[in-house]
Amino acid sequence: MEHVNKTFRQGELTFPILNDISLEIAEKKLVTLMGPSGSGKSTLLNILSAIETADSGKIEVFGNELSEATERELTNYRRKTIGIVFQFFHLFPYLSALDNVALPLHLSGVSKSIAKKKANEALSLVGLAHRKEFTPKEMSGGEKQRVSIARAVAHQPKLILADEPTGNLDSLTSEMIMKLFRTCVKDLNISVFLVTHNEEIGKSGDINLHLLDGQIQTK
Ligand code: ADP
Ligand code: MG
Repeated sequence: MEHVNKTFRQGELTFPILNDISLEIAEKKLVTLMGPSGSGKSTLLNILSAIETADSGKIEVFGNELSEATERELTNYRRKTIGIVFQFFHLFPYLSALDNVALPLHLSGVSKSIAKKKANEALSLVGLAHRKEFTPKEMSGGEKQRVSIARAVAHQPKLILADEPTGNLDSLTSEMIMKLFRTCVKDLNISVFLVTHNEEIGKSGDINLHLLDGQIQTK
Protein backbone atom coordinates (compact mmCIF):
# COMPACT_ATOMS: atom_id res chain seq x y z
CA MET A 1 0.00 0.00 0.00
CA GLU A 2 1.29 3.45 -0.81
CA HIS A 3 -0.21 6.57 0.72
CA VAL A 4 -3.62 4.99 1.22
CA ASN A 5 -6.37 7.20 2.62
CA LYS A 6 -9.93 6.46 3.60
CA THR A 7 -12.46 8.84 5.10
CA PHE A 8 -16.11 8.09 5.81
CA ARG A 9 -18.62 10.90 5.45
CA GLN A 10 -21.99 11.26 7.09
CA GLY A 11 -23.75 14.41 6.03
CA GLU A 12 -21.48 17.28 6.97
CA LEU A 13 -19.25 15.16 9.19
CA THR A 14 -16.10 13.45 8.03
CA PHE A 15 -14.39 10.57 9.82
CA PRO A 16 -10.84 10.01 8.66
CA ILE A 17 -10.09 6.31 9.20
CA LEU A 18 -6.91 5.46 7.30
CA ASN A 19 -4.38 8.26 7.13
CA ASP A 20 -1.65 7.99 4.52
CA ILE A 21 -0.84 4.33 5.11
CA SER A 22 2.19 2.92 3.34
CA LEU A 23 3.01 -0.70 3.93
CA GLU A 24 4.94 -3.43 2.20
CA ILE A 25 4.60 -7.06 3.27
CA ALA A 26 6.60 -10.02 2.03
CA GLU A 27 4.63 -13.00 0.77
CA LYS A 28 4.13 -16.29 2.61
CA LYS A 29 3.90 -14.68 6.02
CA LEU A 30 1.33 -14.85 8.77
CA VAL A 31 0.46 -11.23 9.43
CA THR A 32 -1.65 -10.10 12.37
CA LEU A 33 -3.34 -6.73 12.73
CA MET A 34 -4.55 -5.42 16.08
CA GLY A 35 -6.10 -2.13 17.04
CA PRO A 36 -8.88 -0.62 19.11
CA SER A 37 -12.49 -1.15 18.10
CA GLY A 38 -13.40 1.35 15.39
CA SER A 39 -9.80 2.02 14.43
CA GLY A 40 -10.36 0.85 10.85
CA LYS A 41 -9.07 -2.73 10.86
CA SER A 42 -12.06 -4.08 8.94
CA THR A 43 -11.92 -1.11 6.59
CA LEU A 44 -8.28 -1.90 5.80
CA LEU A 45 -9.08 -5.57 5.31
CA ASN A 46 -12.09 -4.76 3.12
CA ILE A 47 -9.91 -2.54 0.95
CA LEU A 48 -7.45 -5.42 0.53
CA SER A 49 -10.43 -7.68 -0.26
CA ALA A 50 -11.61 -5.21 -2.92
CA ILE A 51 -14.92 -4.98 -1.09
CA GLU A 52 -14.31 -1.31 -0.35
CA THR A 53 -12.19 1.19 -2.22
CA ALA A 54 -9.67 3.62 -0.83
CA ASP A 55 -10.14 7.33 -1.49
CA SER A 56 -6.58 7.69 -2.70
CA GLY A 57 -3.28 5.85 -2.79
CA LYS A 58 -2.00 2.76 -4.50
CA ILE A 59 -2.74 -0.82 -3.50
CA GLU A 60 -1.03 -3.75 -5.13
CA VAL A 61 -1.58 -7.35 -4.06
CA PHE A 62 0.37 -10.08 -5.86
CA GLY A 63 0.65 -7.96 -8.94
CA ASN A 64 -2.99 -6.87 -8.89
CA GLU A 65 -3.26 -3.08 -8.85
CA LEU A 66 -6.53 -2.74 -6.98
CA SER A 67 -6.57 1.01 -7.19
CA GLU A 68 -6.60 0.95 -10.99
CA ALA A 69 -8.42 -2.30 -11.71
CA THR A 70 -11.65 -2.57 -13.65
CA GLU A 71 -14.69 -4.23 -12.04
CA ARG A 72 -13.98 -7.34 -14.09
CA GLU A 73 -10.38 -7.48 -12.90
CA LEU A 74 -11.53 -7.04 -9.30
CA THR A 75 -13.98 -9.93 -9.66
CA ASN A 76 -11.18 -12.05 -10.99
CA TYR A 77 -8.95 -10.96 -8.11
CA ARG A 78 -11.58 -11.95 -5.53
CA ARG A 79 -12.11 -15.32 -7.21
CA LYS A 80 -8.50 -16.27 -7.86
CA THR A 81 -6.04 -14.39 -5.69
CA ILE A 82 -7.74 -14.14 -2.30
CA GLY A 83 -9.83 -16.15 0.10
CA ILE A 84 -11.89 -14.48 2.82
CA VAL A 85 -12.72 -15.75 6.31
CA PHE A 86 -15.28 -13.94 8.47
CA GLN A 87 -15.89 -13.86 12.22
CA PHE A 88 -19.45 -15.15 11.81
CA PHE A 89 -18.57 -17.70 9.13
CA HIS A 90 -21.13 -16.56 6.50
CA LEU A 91 -22.02 -20.10 5.51
CA PHE A 92 -25.23 -21.07 3.71
CA PRO A 93 -27.35 -22.52 6.54
CA TYR A 94 -29.18 -25.13 4.47
CA LEU A 95 -26.22 -26.42 2.49
CA SER A 96 -23.87 -29.18 3.61
CA ALA A 97 -20.27 -28.36 4.44
CA LEU A 98 -19.31 -29.91 1.10
CA ASP A 99 -21.74 -27.74 -0.86
CA ASN A 100 -20.74 -24.64 1.09
CA VAL A 101 -17.19 -25.14 -0.15
CA ALA A 102 -18.04 -26.42 -3.64
CA LEU A 103 -20.73 -23.89 -4.61
CA PRO A 104 -18.52 -20.77 -4.76
CA LEU A 105 -15.99 -22.73 -6.82
CA HIS A 106 -18.70 -23.85 -9.21
CA LEU A 107 -20.11 -20.31 -9.44
CA SER A 108 -16.66 -19.05 -10.35
CA GLY A 109 -16.61 -21.33 -13.38
CA VAL A 110 -15.20 -24.64 -12.14
CA SER A 111 -17.17 -27.71 -13.29
CA LYS A 112 -19.41 -29.35 -10.68
CA SER A 113 -17.35 -32.52 -10.43
CA ILE A 114 -14.03 -30.70 -10.04
CA ALA A 115 -15.60 -28.29 -7.55
CA LYS A 116 -16.72 -31.28 -5.43
CA LYS A 117 -13.30 -32.89 -5.69
CA LYS A 118 -11.55 -29.71 -4.59
CA ALA A 119 -14.10 -29.17 -1.81
CA ASN A 120 -13.48 -32.71 -0.55
CA GLU A 121 -9.74 -32.09 -0.52
CA ALA A 122 -10.11 -28.77 1.31
CA LEU A 123 -12.41 -30.31 3.94
CA SER A 124 -9.91 -33.11 4.49
CA LEU A 125 -7.18 -30.54 4.93
CA VAL A 126 -9.10 -28.84 7.75
CA GLY A 127 -9.88 -32.21 9.33
CA LEU A 128 -13.58 -32.26 8.48
CA ALA A 129 -13.88 -35.11 5.99
CA HIS A 130 -16.21 -36.82 8.48
CA ARG A 131 -18.51 -33.79 8.67
CA LYS A 132 -18.90 -33.00 5.01
CA GLU A 133 -22.60 -33.87 4.85
CA PHE A 134 -23.40 -31.82 7.96
CA THR A 135 -25.09 -28.42 7.68
CA PRO A 136 -23.83 -25.43 9.73
CA LYS A 137 -26.67 -25.98 12.25
CA GLU A 138 -25.19 -29.35 13.05
CA MET A 139 -21.65 -28.06 13.60
CA SER A 140 -19.79 -26.32 16.41
CA GLY A 141 -18.35 -22.83 15.99
CA GLY A 142 -14.87 -24.23 15.46
CA GLU A 143 -16.14 -26.68 12.84
CA LYS A 144 -18.00 -23.90 11.04
CA GLN A 145 -14.85 -21.80 10.98
CA ARG A 146 -12.91 -24.76 9.59
CA VAL A 147 -15.52 -25.08 6.81
CA SER A 148 -15.06 -21.42 6.00
CA ILE A 149 -11.28 -21.86 5.94
CA ALA A 150 -11.79 -24.82 3.59
CA ARG A 151 -13.92 -22.54 1.41
CA ALA A 152 -11.20 -19.89 1.48
CA VAL A 153 -8.40 -22.28 0.44
CA ALA A 154 -10.32 -24.50 -2.01
CA HIS A 155 -9.36 -22.40 -5.04
CA GLN A 156 -5.71 -22.21 -3.92
CA PRO A 157 -5.53 -18.47 -3.32
CA LYS A 158 -2.31 -16.59 -2.73
CA LEU A 159 -3.68 -14.69 0.22
CA ILE A 160 -6.24 -15.33 2.96
CA LEU A 161 -7.83 -12.28 4.54
CA ALA A 162 -9.51 -13.01 7.85
CA ASP A 163 -11.50 -10.54 9.97
CA GLU A 164 -11.43 -11.66 13.62
CA PRO A 165 -11.67 -15.32 12.63
CA THR A 166 -11.39 -16.45 16.25
CA GLY A 167 -13.50 -13.63 17.69
CA ASN A 168 -16.40 -15.96 18.34
CA LEU A 169 -14.47 -19.02 19.50
CA ASP A 170 -13.13 -20.27 22.84
CA SER A 171 -9.38 -20.24 23.38
CA LEU A 172 -8.74 -23.91 22.65
CA THR A 173 -10.69 -23.75 19.41
CA SER A 174 -8.95 -20.49 18.52
CA GLU A 175 -5.59 -22.19 18.88
CA MET A 176 -6.71 -24.94 16.52
CA ILE A 177 -7.85 -22.35 13.96
CA MET A 178 -4.50 -20.52 14.29
CA LYS A 179 -2.71 -23.82 13.69
CA LEU A 180 -4.67 -24.19 10.47
CA PHE A 181 -3.65 -20.72 9.35
CA ARG A 182 -0.02 -21.59 10.08
CA THR A 183 -0.42 -24.76 8.00
CA CYS A 184 -1.74 -22.59 5.17
CA VAL A 185 1.43 -20.49 5.32
CA LYS A 186 3.96 -23.29 5.83
CA ASP A 187 2.54 -26.14 3.75
CA LEU A 188 0.37 -24.40 1.16
CA ASN A 189 2.50 -21.28 0.66
CA ILE A 190 -0.52 -19.07 1.24
CA SER A 191 -0.04 -15.68 2.87
CA VAL A 192 -2.42 -14.95 5.72
CA PHE A 193 -3.48 -11.50 6.91
CA LEU A 194 -5.69 -11.59 9.96
CA VAL A 195 -7.34 -9.06 12.20
CA THR A 196 -7.55 -10.04 15.85
CA HIS A 197 -8.55 -8.70 19.23
CA ASN A 198 -6.61 -11.39 21.02
CA GLU A 199 -3.30 -10.14 22.44
CA GLU A 200 -1.63 -13.52 22.21
CA ILE A 201 -2.64 -14.09 18.61
CA GLY A 202 -1.63 -10.50 17.88
CA LYS A 203 1.91 -11.37 18.91
CA SER A 204 2.06 -14.76 17.21
CA GLY A 205 2.42 -13.76 13.57
CA ASP A 206 5.58 -13.55 11.49
CA ILE A 207 4.68 -9.87 11.25
CA ASN A 208 2.52 -8.16 13.86
CA LEU A 209 0.93 -4.83 13.00
CA HIS A 210 -1.01 -2.30 15.04
CA LEU A 211 -3.48 0.22 13.66
CA LEU A 212 -3.77 3.35 15.74
CA ASP A 213 -5.00 6.83 14.81
CA GLY A 214 -5.17 5.89 11.15
CA GLN A 215 -1.56 4.75 11.04
CA ILE A 216 0.12 1.36 11.00
CA GLN A 217 2.76 0.61 13.55
CA THR A 218 5.06 -2.38 13.23
CA LYS A 219 6.08 -4.01 16.45
P1 ADP B 1 -12.68 -1.92 13.29
O1 ADP B 1 -12.80 -3.08 12.40
O2 ADP B 1 -11.26 -1.57 13.63
O3 ADP B 1 -13.48 -2.05 14.55
P2 ADP B 1 -14.02 -0.50 11.15
O4 ADP B 1 -13.05 -0.54 10.03
O5 ADP B 1 -15.17 -1.43 11.07
O6 ADP B 1 -13.26 -0.63 12.54
O7 ADP B 1 -14.62 0.96 11.26
C1 ADP B 1 -13.81 2.09 11.46
C2 ADP B 1 -14.69 3.31 11.63
O8 ADP B 1 -15.30 3.63 10.41
C3 ADP B 1 -15.80 3.14 12.66
O9 ADP B 1 -15.92 4.31 13.38
C4 ADP B 1 -17.02 2.90 11.80
O10 ADP B 1 -18.19 3.38 12.42
C5 ADP B 1 -16.71 3.67 10.55
N1 ADP B 1 -17.32 3.06 9.36
C6 ADP B 1 -17.06 1.82 8.90
N2 ADP B 1 -17.76 1.58 7.77
C7 ADP B 1 -18.47 2.70 7.52
C8 ADP B 1 -19.39 3.10 6.48
N3 ADP B 1 -19.68 2.28 5.47
N4 ADP B 1 -19.92 4.34 6.56
C9 ADP B 1 -19.59 5.18 7.57
N5 ADP B 1 -18.74 4.88 8.56
C10 ADP B 1 -18.19 3.66 8.54
MG1 MG C 1 -13.85 -4.85 12.54
